[in-house]
Amino acid sequence: MSTSMLVAIDGPAGSGKSSVSRAAAERLGYGILDTGAAYRALAWAALDSGMNLDDETQMNDLLDRWHYTITLLGEQRVTVAFAEAARATDVTALIRTPELSAQVSRVSKHPTVRQRLNSMFLDVVATSGLPGVVIEGRDITTVVAPNAPVRILMTASPEVRAARRAGELQGLTREQVLVDIEARDAKDTLVVDFMNPAPGVTLVDTSEMNFEQSVQAVIEIVRAAEAAAHAAGES
Ligand code: C5P
Repeated sequence: MSTSMLVAIDGPAGSGKSSVSRAAAERLGYGILDTGAAYRALAWAALDSGMNLDDETQMNDLLDRWHYTITLLGEQRVTVAFAEAARATDVTALIRTPELSAQVSRVSKHPTVRQRLNSMFLDVVATSGLPGVVIEGRDITTVVAPNAPVRILMTASPEVRAARRAGELQGLTREQVLVDIEARDAKDTLVVDFMNPAPGVTLVDTSEMNFEQSVQAVIEIVRAAEAAAHAAGES
């Protein structure tokens, strides 16, 4: 079964992208695919097997062997298993540590890794059987789903993003978090531009919005697209 509505959302860390996308998806009755989790899980798997994250061939070998799962509905659960291993490891919490976050750009910079994960994302969406899926990441509006009926770039000022992340991560100051996210953005923007909206992409700047306002902004854009699709179908 194919998915009827695809909502592509990109943005940097702390823009509200992940939590807002999730809440909007829940209220719309859609699934949510967090693509960053796959890059994180691959980095975790590479570190766990003692591989060199900068080596594209080794990362492809790992992709040949791994079995990756992520839930699209309800609480997020991410698992990784290797072909030879009988049991999958639940990496849901393991992929969220600041130490792991700092390593992920080393695997996401490889073009062939990106291509393979991108086709995996499209497969997951196409076989989801859901009425709609919100898919969020860095290059969803531009590379993964450039023809999605809804494409949003969610941004916020670096200071606001650091303050939000510091609230989520215990034990780190806002200044430390600002340094971390600016370093990560600098590496990630070398590979994909997720700071400027591509033509046709709606910019949602959440700097001055609270969580609820941000969720409503996304829902309004989706509802408008649904209404436009409906009207086009009737005319
Ligand atoms: O979104 P999140 O912060 O979980 O992403 C973790 C990392 O995964 C990013 O820093 C980036 O290196 C990579 N990523 C990516 N393309 C995506 C999603 C995430 O390169 N679509």
